Amino acid sequence: MSPFPYDGRFPIHRRLPEESTPRAELLEALHAMATEEDATWESGTCSGTMYCGDHDHYAFLNEAFGLFAHVNVLQRDMCPSATKFESEIIAMTLDLLHAEAITDSEPAGLVSSGGTGSISHAMLAYREWAARQRGVSRPNVIKPETAHPAFDKACHLFGIDLRVAPVDPVTTLVDTEWVDAHIDADTVAIIGSACNYGYGTVDPIGALSDIALRHGVGLHVDSCLGGFILPFGQELGYDIPVFDFRHPGVTSISADTHKYGYAFKGTSVLSFRDKGLRNAQYFFLTDWSGGKYCSPGMDGSRSGGLLAATWASMVQLGREGYRRYAVDIFATAAAMQESVRSHPELRILGAPTFLFSFTSDEFDIYHVNDFMRGRGWRFNGQQYPNALHMAVTRPQTQPGVVERFTTDLDGAVAYAREKEGEAPASGAIYGGVAGGMTDEADEFIRMVMGDMMDAQQSIPAPG
Ligand SMILES: *Cc1c(COP(=O)(O)O)cnc(C)c1O
Repeated sequence: MSPFPYDGRFPIHRRLPEESTPRAELLEALHAMATEEDATWESGTCSGTMYCGDHDHYAFLNEAFGLFAHVNVLQRDMCPSATKFESEIIAMTLDLLHAEAITDSEPAGLVSSGGTGSISHAMLAYREWAARQRGVSRPNVIKPETAHPAFDKACHLFGIDLRVAPVDPVTTLVDTEWVDAHIDADTVAIIGSACNYGYGTVDPIGALSDIALRHGVGLHVDSCLGGFILPFGQELGYDIPVFDFRHPGVTSISADTHKYGYAFKGTSVLSFRDKGLRNAQYFFLTDWSGGKYCSPGMDGSRSGGLLAATWASMVQLGREGYRRYAVDIFATAAAMQESVRSHPELRILGAPTFLFSFTSDEFDIYHVNDFMRGRGWRFNGQQYPNALHMAVTRPQTQPGVVERFTTDLDGAVAYAREKEGEAPASGAIYGGVAGGMTDEADEFIRMVMGDMMDAQQSIPAPG
């Protein structure tokens, strides 16, 4: 697919147009683009990313968003509603993550801009807290190899040394003995995922909790993906281990409202066992000539619309709504995993949940990807080992999608058998921008990312 399908269809703007443009004209163009792009996932053949997919839910959120879109929640005297929304989003999330089990401190939370935002604020809080409480000046954290790159990014930005713990190749779970052995006086936190992005598996949070308590370090549970669906899977009786504040060593949890919270992109909740840890990362400048400045997190101005829409999503669905959606998602994920297991050539990695990943020991799994892509499927590609992952969301729960998956997978396995020994066309990348990249392709990656932002400079001028 061309990255510039709209050239020639809609005007290209390289400078602000001199004249204003009629709203109706722009809305028509926007409707055309949105409708065409929505068709890429509405069929249910796209892994992850569109967690709800119900246009009536989006319309409802848009209405809530629109009422507060123009509001800056930094100016709280003008929008007490933001305080209501934010504190209730945090309270509802803490409740879902069993903060009632916390008896030794006062739980607290923070609404951030997304999973990366929550993880970054957590890493910053651990760094600041340990500096103040323990005098740590060269902090390190330990993450399982499978934990999200947001940890690497946060550690890079905040000058934290990141130690990467190996995972078991069969279960995909972190080697807790390695973690235990690599904690030292400068370790501020260890990390576990519930569940991880790659395999949908849940690290042994209970064992990590014991280790964290024994060493007196923090334990961050990354539940960005699972935070709003695994609790309902547990209620439904699926075999999902406890991963939340019921383990006494868990000191913070990230859970993304913009994933299985079914809210808009741009919000996530970071929950803390102890308010002191959260407060450690506040920023204030009280002697600035522009006035006393303080902000709860890294963002400055934030839109009230996102808080309103996130709050509206949570309250409208309620536990009943989330549970109902979880019923369908877990059942669909189980049926798809059944299809994968029906092929002895394919192997599911570890014991996954609503998200599963599969590989083959007999052929390159990217042949399967090539065939499935031709049938409209969009999986996330993985490496070490090469594998494909499917995060089941609401669009997959529509009638006929599991059957289509099963039929297409049958065809894909036959195709992969034929292509054994040949090089597949697709390769592993998070986000699906390009295929066939290698570790050395540094410049290529810079070019691809640049193209997203510099596109209109690089297209030849019309005429
Ligand atoms: C999505 C995800 C993140 C990062 O979240 P963003 O919202 O993309 O910033 C972190 N951890 C896990 C497990 C995730 O699935």
